[in-house]
Amino acid sequence: MAPAVTVTLDVEDLRPAHDLPERVVAMTDLVLDMLADAGVRASIFVVGELAERRPGLVRRAAKDGHEIGLHSWAHVPIPTQGPDGFLADISRGRALLQDLSGQEVTGYRAPMMSLVPASAWAVPLIAEAGFTYSSSVLPGPSPLYGWPGLPRRPFRWSGGPIEFPCPMVRLGLIDLPYLGGTYLRLLPAAVRRIGLRRAARDEALWAYCHPWEFDTEEAFHQHDHIGTLASRIAWLGRSRMGRQLGRLLRESVAPPLGEVADDLAGDDLPVVDPNRPPELGWVARWANGRLRQR
Ligand SMILES: [Zn+2]
Repeated sequence: MAPAVTVTLDVEDLRPAHDLPERVVAMTDLVLDMLADAGVRASIFVVGELAERRPGLVRRAAKDGHEIGLHSWAHVPIPTQGPDGFLADISRGRALLQDLSGQEVTGYRAPMMSLVPASAWAVPLIAEAGFTYSSSVLPGPSPLYGWPGLPRRPFRWSGGPIEFPCPMVRLGLIDLPYLGGTYLRLLPAAVRRIGLRRAARDEALWAYCHPWEFDTEEAFHQHDHIGTLASRIAWLGRSRMGRQLGRLLRESVAPPLGEVADDLAGDDLPVVDPNRPPELGWVARWANGRLRQR
């Protein structure tokens, strides 16, 4: 049997202008309906600014039994923020989500996996704001944001939260975050099966997707922070997304990440000092961040 995978959803409104039609509530409801039909509880990471504007969205997800986590205040990549603004934003976001959900909010997910060596200063602040776990790093070279060299299994930041690195599979020379939205949407299902077959027993497997990935009617928008090519990629293959999530939900599903973190709390996890990042090889240095620059 395939190993169990936690389902996570990053709820964000990426319209570049607020006079464009707002589709995020309808698309989030669509995903929450799918989860309810399948009887699956997920980790739902919500952008704080959106939760403030659309509180009903958080209330519904919490009422359905999902874990609520924070996906930043305004979906700005961490390296573009200073420490003071970052701490204020995630503290404010956590307090708001706790009010709306009635849950203790313990999980933080960075926008675009933007916890990288250049934003290592954020790690102690994530703990200071009250989060006990993070799922914010892509442990390989990435054309957007990646942190090559980090463990591929859950680890503990020294003096900080547990980190659940994004699951990766190596195909040839390339490491792919095969359970991530774009990859679920665009790659054949066989890639997911290969990844799950090769996953180590001590990995914590989680998939992520976004409400907008299910939206087949939205016009093309250029997104902030990721450039034209990545914006085009974000627009492709959306008609496949419902089927792909449906497949995941029929397979073996793991509990929300907060519960996995509770189970791991007493375990002897590898410890990583965020201020001493592993040396990057030349491939990683070349590949990291190239798409972001366009
Ligand atoms: Zn996001």
